[in-house]
Amino acid sequence: MTEQNHYDIIVIGSGPAGFTAAIYAARGGASCALFGGVAPGGQLLQTTEIENFPGFVAPVVGADLMQSMLKQAARLGTKVFQEDAASVDLSARPFKVTAGAGKVYTAGALIIATGAQARWLGMPSEQKFVGKGVSGCATCDGFFFRGKEVAVIGGGDSAVEDALFLTKFASKVYLVHRRDELRANFRLQEKVKATPKIEVLYDHTPEEFLGDDRLKALKVKNVKTGETRTLELPGVFVAIGHTPSTKLFEGKLQLDDEGYIVTDERTATSVPGVYAAGDVMDTRYKQAVVAAGAGCKAAMEALVFLQESGR
Ligand code: NAP
Repeated sequence: MTEQNHYDIIVIGSGPAGFTAAIYAARGGASCALFGGVAPGGQLLQTTEIENFPGFVAPVVGADLMQSMLKQAARLGTKVFQEDAASVDLSARPFKVTAGAGKVYTAGALIIATGAQARWLGMPSEQKFVGKGVSGCATCDGFFFRGKEVAVIGGGDSAVEDALFLTKFASKVYLVHRRDELRANFRLQEKVKATPKIEVLYDHTPEEFLGDDRLKALKVKNVKTGETRTLELPGVFVAIGHTPSTKLFEGKLQLDDEGYIVTDERTATSVPGVYAAGDVMDTRYKQAVVAAGAGCKAAMEALVFLQESGR
């Protein structure tokens, strides 16, 4: 039997937006393939416990939630490829998706749900120590700092969640935030106040990452007084937001100044038949449940498009 290489709908991305799109596409009667990368699941793989995804009384582990979504999509008939989409051709229908291994697949409609990636500060000394004490993933690397002091950079939900998570291992966690109040939601802020192991350094920015072959210290500066201070610690976690993963679509779809895919309220992109859902187009909410909702919309719109334009 020859392997199928044309699908009604191809979904690129395997976070809540991608899997929800695939579930709705398959249930809508479309043949559907999803390119999910070598480790499908998206950003939620790096989250420990999720308390705000509806339907779970107790917190659900991010990786477990994503495994359930993958199995649900597959059970409903989606072909899940555990490889990346290496390139896309959106110049004519059927759209072409070249997979990592070089094989070309075609689709009548495309749903892009490639999400976003953690952002770095961009300082040369930071980049020098990535993987040698500087990390963008507390859930991946926190374990290595048992009994040690660490710092987290940022003041949003991610930074605060990381700081709370790191208290499981670290003896002390400095939360280094550039302003005098946290951006994180009220509930997380209350948790920080109730956690003596966390010290928030308000109005502080990182000045330099110090060390030789591994990180040994972080120099921080008080932006109000100009005073600097060196924190002797072997681990720094950078949690300052995300950049949309849209490199593949530069010059092919309309992107905004920050690189997010521009869509209308029905998830339609600048190319008819191509839809985008989740953090790759969401400049505001960036929540799993919102991404899932957008994935549902994208699939419903793609199904209508196929019906009206022919598969
Ligand atoms: P975010 O909300 O954009 O916060 C980024 C934080 O990093 C801000 O505090 C920002 O400071 C700081 N920052 C940005 N650039 C910086 C720089 N160059 N130097 C120093 N600090 C810098 O990003 P996020 O925390 O990753 O969250 C992204 C989205 O996901 C949000 O919508 C959030 O609600 C959501 N999220 C939700 C949950 C949850 O509900 N459980 C968990 C994680 C994330 P300023 O405050 O001064 O701008």
